[in-house]
Amino acid sequence: MIRYKVTRARLEQMVEAESPGWLARAAARTDQFRRQGYYREESSIWSEVKPVYMRLQGMGKCAYCEREMESPELGRVEQDVEHFRPKGNVKAWKAPVKLKGMGIPFTPAPVRKKGYHLLPYHLFNYSAACKPCNSTLKKDYFPIAGVYDLDADDPAAMGAEKPYLIFPIGSLDADPETLITFHGASPQAVAQTGHARHRALVTIAFFMLDEAEQRKGLYRDRAIVIMGLFPLLRQTTTGTAAEKAKAKATVEGFLNPKLRHLNCARSFRALFETDPVEAESIYSGAVGLMATMS
Ligand SMILES: [Zn+2]
Repeated sequence: MIRYKVTRARLEQMVEAESPGWLARAAARTDQFRRQGYYREESSIWSEVKPVYMRLQGMGKCAYCEREMESPELGRVEQDVEHFRPKGNVKAWKAPVKLKGMGIPFTPAPVRKKGYHLLPYHLFNYSAACKPCNSTLKKDYFPIAGVYDLDADDPAAMGAEKPYLIFPIGSLDADPETLITFHGASPQAVAQTGHARHRALVTIAFFMLDEAEQRKGLYRDRAIVIMGLFPLLRQTTTGTAAEKAKAKATVEGFLNPKLRHLNCARSFRALFETDPVEAESIYSGAVGLMATMS
């Protein structure tokens, strides 16, 4: 995961350009949910703003797994508008066995069938996510370490919930790259202890970002990124000054935030700079992996 920088004012501008009048309609619906005290409606209007998030996240990258899909124009059915905080019901997430015994505290899910009914139309409650991440894995889960605040209407003031999942749009949450890094194609926690470590471990497990079999597409794509990057990184250290400078510029182009698996690519560059021998070993492993794929 990486952060997608945007201010609320800019996001509102983009939404209004995409779908004029959307903000007013969204505010009216939110007022209705406030009066009711719960979320319910016949039809939703958030898919109208899906292209805004798809463009913000590169040309249709998933906010969570960073895989790349088709353009906002043709790729709409490939992606969902993901509600970070579930709008109608918060269900209990069953932590996988590998997280058990790590001392990660999970707050029990609310017993009432109620969700964050004031946030179905909050612009900082959305991202564009692929169907495996959103429809298959995220569903109505929202594991936290703090206290559920289902009546709140401002994600900026809800830090006491201490969510485990990381919200990558704007600057409300920590930069995902300060929490999750990659060793080769494998995601890892940056922090060694505490909630920051738990957040990384839960997010990785929740979206199965480290499941090489079940998410083999992610591993294959990360291996391709590493295979493309290593020869360029090596060129930044050999040849004339002009050749090195040209290679550096090419690497910068390769690390464009719009491209897939940027956290993995940036982590690999950082490894190359500190331990080029290990980086070469990972590169060789990626080449070997691709050679064995049929
Ligand atoms: Zn995804």
